[in-house]
Amino acid sequence: MEKVVIIGTGCAGLTAAIYTARANLEPLVLTGAMPGGLLTTTSIVENYPGFPQGIDGYELMTAMQKQAERFGAKVKFGTVEAVDLSRRPFKLTVDGDPVETQTLIIASGAGHKHLGVPGEDTLEKKGVTYCATCDGALPMFRNQPLVVVGGGDSACEEATYLTRFASTVYLIHRRDTLRASKIMADRTLANPKIKPVWDSVVTEVLDAKQDKVTGVRLKNVKTGAENVLECAGVFVAIGHVPNTQLFKGQLDMDDNGYITRREGSQTGVAGVFVAGDCSDHVYRQAITAAGMGCAAAIDAERFLASSNQ
Ligand code: NAP
Repeated sequence: MEKVVIIGTGCAGLTAAIYTARANLEPLVLTGAMPGGLLTTTSIVENYPGFPQGIDGYELMTAMQKQAERFGAKVKFGTVEAVDLSRRPFKLTVDGDPVETQTLIIASGAGHKHLGVPGEDTLEKKGVTYCATCDGALPMFRNQPLVVVGGGDSACEEATYLTRFASTVYLIHRRDTLRASKIMADRTLANPKIKPVWDSVVTEVLDAKQDKVTGVRLKNVKTGAENVLECAGVFVAIGHVPNTQLFKGQLDMDDNGYITRREGSQTGVAGVFVAGDCSDHVYRQAITAAGMGCAAAIDAERFLASSNQ
């Protein structure tokens, strides 16, 4: 029987792990399919306090894991397949094996949102990708025109990163102003290799018949005009969807699937706490996720202390 199980090893999960480990609760921390979370797919993180020159996302997450393990956190590669939160102890199935726990901290993060247009799924990994840091250096993208879709910080970051490899990066955005933070937006628009394409949406990724990306069909949302833009790769950076499918019907969620919090990090089920991107669609920063992980750990510790009295 575990005292605390933490689902997720992003900033939220690993911070919860550091705090619960230091409270001698020996948390079992389950990585899921993406150990280290979305930050491992980022190049340089410039806004995490304490790193004046920025820090590589993978490096930051590896350091957090080591810090948690130093205090006794048991980080295990494993995916939670089922949960039963109907009574305590809670029951989980992890890669086929049963796990029981007195408290649960859900820090399962979020995944990449898809465009949902023809050609996107068929051509995934054949030119369509959701991570420039992971795939940008592939030979098929070298010295080629590339497309980034989106207008937020992620899209700006991806576009800037891709200028290392691409001949030109077209930034396709459905409006005429970027949503990204001012510093990121200014830096992106000042880059001579990045060409913004405003008020436009991708309606199809071409060419499924050739089994590789040759271009995108674009539609101007103001004029309705359509055209084809040739490119060798499409990098989709249009936001995220929370990884919360597993808890549907057991925890309260908003219409977009984000788990709703009550007081602090508490969910509607006593003993189940939540932290990070799976319950936050407002801030979604590494540092806020870490802060929420800390709060969830303190809430779980206090819950255990009061329920064992
Ligand atoms: P985001 O801020 O939600 O931006 C998503 C962008 O995609 C928006 O510009 C949105 O357009 C567009 N979009 C959404 N759905 C679309 C669709 N179906 N078709 C076309 N365009 C679509 O997401 P994000 O950029 O991934 O950022 C998420 C969070 O992480 C933010 O809080 C951001 O600050 C943070 N982040 C920070 C950094 C950093 O500071 N270094 C880096 C990456 C991310 P509209 O603008 O019209 O809504």
